Amino acid sequence: MKNFDGFGLSPVLAKSLAYMKYTKPTPIQEQAIPLALEGHDIMGTAQTGTGKTAAFAIPLVEKLLNDPQGSALVLTPTRELGKQIIDIMHQLLGPKSAIKTAFIIGGESMGKQFNQLRAKPRLIVGTPGRINDHLERGSLKLNDTHLLVLDETDRMLDMGFTIQLERIFKYMPEKRQTLMFSATLPKNILKLSEKYLNDPKRVAVGETNVVAKNIKQDVIRIEQDKKYDELMSQLYDRKGSVIVFVKTKYNADRMAKNLRRDGFETEALHGDLRQNKRDRVMQGFRKQDFRVLIATDIAARGLDVPHIEHVINYDLPQVAEDFIHRMGRTARAGAEGSAVSFVSNQDGRKWHAIERLLNPNAAPTKFEKAPRPSGNKSRKQDGRQQNGRPTPKRRFNRSKKKAA
Ligand code: AMP
Repeated sequence: MKNFDGFGLSPVLAKSLAYMKYTKPTPIQEQAIPLALEGHDIMGTAQTGTGKTAAFAIPLVEKLLNDPQGSALVLTPTRELGKQIIDIMHQLLGPKSAIKTAFIIGGESMGKQFNQLRAKPRLIVGTPGRINDHLERGSLKLNDTHLLVLDETDRMLDMGFTIQLERIFKYMPEKRQTLMFSATLPKNILKLSEKYLNDPKRVAVGETNVVAKNIKQDVIRIEQDKKYDELMSQLYDRKGSVIVFVKTKYNADRMAKNLRRDGFETEALHGDLRQNKRDRVMQGFRKQDFRVLIATDIAARGLDVPHIEHVINYDLPQVAEDFIHRMGRTARAGAEGSAVSFVSNQDGRKWHAIERLLNPNAAPTKFEKAPRPSGNKSRKQDGRQQNGRPTPKRRFNRSKKKAA
């Protein structure tokens, strides 16, 4: 298919797509849109950055435009992802749409959400916890919601939302269309799909356990206490926006503070920040007000910031699958990206799990201890000083506070 014309979309939607400069459907859109328009349930797997949001958003909006009644619900694991989805929905609906929307996420004022819900929205995007909250209070009714999208379902289950999801399903009509998307397909996802989807059509793009080809990947074997210096060296060497992944919320804050002290424009993003702070950080990063975002996995999942050029895995992820999701933050929509992972002597098990996931048939590589450079300074740090770059004033203190 050459463009979106073949789907027979409403003129409103065609106009919005032209305005958004979406001329050609991406492969996942090409597969999912006609099936969803025909009314099928879908079990979709696609790597992040493939245009998966519009793959469900376009048919959803088309259905809402054609049917004067009923509403649609989109469930998403994180608030940031929700914001991206509702933004795409608004763009697709176009300005002054008669279709009202509600954005129901945790951490935001209930008052604003009550108002949105009283206005009888036909499209609701939200996170499972807050959606349940409104269902229990009676401020949200789903008896006329015949369209359901579950985005990043694997992540929702990882985050412990299974019970919340099952509760939400109970409030919905049994006769409905469900579009379920997941980056990976572990057993619990298949079980959920069997239980709640009706003869779903499978759509998939690429392999789920691969990192996009346009990402240049490096691994640095390093001792734990050398990581901060190496990070600074990497940040000096790399131009453009960078996302640095760390394990804990505490470390994210602490590292952002230390990097600011060492002259970098940086902010932290994690699940403990108040929602308006999270919004401000994301807005600033999108506008390129600062270059380096320090994030935990929970906050960064699914983020679509096209200008992220580099991913730095300061700490390896707890779950091997998150390695692929982290990589997906760069090289969005076919752009080039690069990534570097710091692998310390304590990371043997985690690193092997990542290797197994990426390449299940290969023999594991031998895990040798990171070389300790002679003297106190690492090779890179010496290089930086020869280049006249500042020496770090203080080391970043590691902490074992609670994970994100
Ligand atoms: P997603 O995988 O939904 O996060 O989308 C990744 C990026 O691709 C986003 O910046 C979208 O705006 C963009 N995108 C999605 N579909 C298209 C399309 N058909 N043409 C151009 N860009 C697109």
